[in-house]
Amino acid sequence: MAKRDYYDILGVPKNASEDDIKKAYRKLAMKHHPDRNQGDDAKKAEEKFKEAKEAYEILSEPQKRAAYDQYGHAGVDPNMGGGRGGPGPEGFGGFAEAFGDIFGDIFGGQGGGRRGGGGQQVYRGADLSYAMEITLEEAAHGKDTQIRIPSWDSCDTCHGSGAKPGTQPKTCPSCNGSGTVHLRQGFFSIQQTCPHCHGTGKIIPEPCPSCHGAGKIKRQKTLEVKIPAGINEGMRIRSAGNGEPGTNGGPPGDLYIEIRMKAHEVFERDGDDLHCTVPVGLTTAALGGTIEVPTLGGKAEIDLPEGTQHGKTFRLRGKGIKGIRSSYPGDLYCHVTVETPVKLTEHQRKLLKELEESFSKAGDRHSPNAKSWTDRVKDLFK
Ligand SMILES: [Zn+2]
Ligand SMILES: [Zn+2]
Repeated sequence: MAKRDYYDILGVPKNASEDDIKKAYRKLAMKHHPDRNQGDDAKKAEEKFKEAKEAYEILSEPQKRAAYDQYGHAGVDPNMGGGRGGPGPEGFGGFAEAFGDIFGDIFGGQGGGRRGGGGQQVYRGADLSYAMEITLEEAAHGKDTQIRIPSWDSCDTCHGSGAKPGTQPKTCPSCNGSGTVHLRQGFFSIQQTCPHCHGTGKIIPEPCPSCHGAGKIKRQKTLEVKIPAGINEGMRIRSAGNGEPGTNGGPPGDLYIEIRMKAHEVFERDGDDLHCTVPVGLTTAALGGTIEVPTLGGKAEIDLPEGTQHGKTFRLRGKGIKGIRSSYPGDLYCHVTVETPVKLTEHQRKLLKELEESFSKAGDRHSPNAKSWTDRVKDLFK
């Protein structure tokens, strides 16, 4: 049976706002909620409810919606997720992908079910995400580090069965162990995950006290992480197979490490470029001279020309950061701020007064912007 269009299901136009989509879904969810529909209508309502939920889950997420708009159901088919589990050949930290990677996000999302060899529904484990804050230096040079992440072991008490020792999981009576049930809807028979056993084909009459029937116990493990040089805010590293375990032998999900940048004392990053502010004394700015500026790799020198103005920017080529996909490092921009002297001694004040008199005798000659400014404001000063 062909899948219905998600917009049709929710009864909204293709350009519906997020709010409209939410409202339409709420209305349908209320109407078809299993708790509100009993008897003959129950099955039909449940189907409608699920259909609306699936449509909402895709259309309410901008990236999934974009993929759906572009590729239709193929762009967001949850079954596609089942094929991507397990440690990939790229290994850990071998690549980073930007957040906006549509297919990475969709295929990395909650895995859908598929049929396993044993007839039970097989589910890919959920993905996990881990936020990691790093310094600018670490981002620039890369870093090998370790993180603690959750891991799951098979439960020792029940050896993974989920049943209390001495008891056995029983074959699910609703689906006779197949994990799926067939619903009749008009002329069609629709196959669906058994709601009773959630596709496992088994029910556990007496759950194991250690794992409460899950068959697995959450622990912690240490993972070696290689942060590649040049990584930036919002990028993420995929660690294949380090998400939650799958169900019924399904592949595990992936772990995503999301990079957050700590603010730096001196530098601000803009892509591969760095910016910093360099305060310069009044006399140095006027007379010119060599000043030291910081770089990520140590210090560098800038030759200030005589008469350097406040706000002047000097670019140091290649003193930025080499991005993950860049061939060359970015640049460092040093923004000069000229500082007015404070806490003057009598002598200094005297010298400055002499200077001021000398300047006023010479007119606007020493103030490069004053002449045009005077021209512009003269009408206002009348
Ligand atoms: Zn157990
Ligand atoms: Zn069942």
